[in-house]
Order: sequence, then C-alpha cells, then structure tokens
Amino acid sequence: MNCEKAIDRYLSLDKGEWVPPAVTFHLIFCPVCRTLVRKLAEAERLAARPLAVRPAPKVAVADPVLAAALERLAASGLVYPEVKPDDRHVSLARWLVAGFALAIGFTAVPFSFIGDWSSSTFGLAYSVPFYLLCGLAVTAYCGMFIGTNIDFFVKKLGLTPSA
Ligand SMILES: [Zn+2]
Repeated sequence: MNCEKAIDRYLSLDKGEWVPPAVTFHLIFCPVCRTLVRKLAEAERLAARPLAVRPAPKVAVADPVLAAALERLAASGLVYPEVKPDDRHVSLARWLVAGFALAIGFTAVPFSFIGDWSSSTFGLAYSVPFYLLCGLAVTAYCGMFIGTNIDFFVKKLGLTPSA
C-alpha cells in the first residue's frame, strides 16, 4: 500500500473506527504518514476541546418552586440517565496488572507444592504441556494487548519520523 492510498483510507474512517490492518502496517513502517496521522489526531483533539462535554456542576436551585419541581421529576424517574464514560476500554493499568499476575502465576507454579508434586509424578508429561500453556497464554495476552491498543501505538507512542 502506498502513502496516498494509506492516507486516503485512513481519512475515510469515522472517528473511533478500527484502523484496517493494512493501513496500520503502513503507518508502522512509514514515518511520513505516521507523523501526518499523529498531527491529524492532535489537531482533532485541539479542535474538539471546546466541544468536549463537561458534567454540569451541581448547583443549588435558589427558586423553591423550581427546586420542588426538580425533586418531583427526580422522584418520578423522569430524569436523564447520568452520562458515564465509555467503560469498554481497558486501561493500561489493568493490562499491566493482568500481565504481572500472568507472569507471576506462571513463574510461581513450578516452585509451588502443586508444581513439585506434578513434576515428580508426571515428569515431562506435566512439564511440556505446562510450558506450552505458558507460551500460548503469554502470546495470546500480548496479541490481545497490541491488537486492542494498536491505535494507541500508532497515534500516541513516540514513534518519531527518524525511526
Ligand atoms: Zn506512507
């Protein structure tokens, strides 16, 4: 994919839409397009800043009639649901905690009672599947981490044009 096609395809995406793998692959290896995409993301962020939804501060209503009306509306359930941020995104801290738990778990099992007993009882019939499971789990973890955060790596990571 050449630069023009990659940028055209990138610009045709809706906001938040998944970047196709071919475009992502091009952005990883093309510093010119990567810089352009990073600048576009920064420009979009700056342009959207005045439009960002801010939660309205809780203010006391001075008018008792209006306050009573608002209370009756709230009591009857005729209020808008509270806007919550998108919680489908897994934060980087949660990814790190899960990764450390995975690594510590797979590191600790062979030295635990279960690991000693299994190794002495089953020998290679335990060790080979266990280490294959470790490898598959780490590979799946890394694949999911990179796959679900590829936009972050392309847009925000310090991938400079000189790289
Ligand atoms: Zn390019």
